[in-house]
Order: sequence, then structure tokens, then C-alpha cells
Amino acid sequence: MARLSDRLPENAPGDFFVDSSCIDCATCRTLAPRVFARSDAIALSVVGCQPTSEADALRTKMALVSCPTSAIGTASKVAVHDAIVALPDPIFSDVLYCGYASESSPCPY
Ligand code: SF4
Repeated sequence: MARLSDRLPENAPGDFFVDSSCIDCATCRTLAPRVFARSDAIALSVVGCQPTSEADALRTKMALVSCPTSAIGTASKVAVHDAIVALPDPIFSDVLYCGYASESSPCPY
């Protein structure tokens, strides 16, 4: 579970945040690229822009439940059931992205 006390100061102000347990695996940036960004200064992911639409909020919560180190959280303890049932994520045709990354999975980039 992400810890608000470990919230990275580089996150955009708002409910969603990444804490210091991020391992820069890129899962969140893959699932919600409009929300998550890589901070080159600290070589970790952060919330670059808080989601402003329901669609982006769902993608952000899909990243939250898929993060291998549980580094993504919300100050409000938002419910994530809709994100759980949204996975696996269709990429194209019959190819699906399963989410739920492992800490031992290599970064695809
Ligand atoms: S999914 Fe988690 S560990 Fe991976 S880059 Fe995003 S916040 Fe960091």
C-alpha cells in the first residue's frame, strides 16, 4: 500500500500520488500515459497530471492495482473495483495486456 508520508514531492498536487517505493518499471506510464510521467531528476515515475476525466481516472486506477510495489495511492483511498474488472486490457485484436506487473519483470523500455 502506498504511503502518503512517502509521497514523492515531484507529484502533481491532487489525490493520486506515487511514493518512494517506485522502481521505475514503466507499468503505470504504459497504462495511463496521460497521467504518469518519468521524472528524470529522480529516475522514478510520478503523477505528472492528475486525471481530469473518468476515462483517465479508470486508467490511473488500473495502474494503481498493477503497480508491482504498490507505490501508487490516493489520499482519499479511492475504490478500485472498476479498475480490477477492467483488466486484462485489450491492446488490439485478441492481444491483451494483463496488468498486475511483477517486481521481477524487466522494464520493456
Ligand atoms: S508501476 Fe509502480 S513501480 Fe512501476 S513505474 Fe509506476 S509507480 Fe513505479
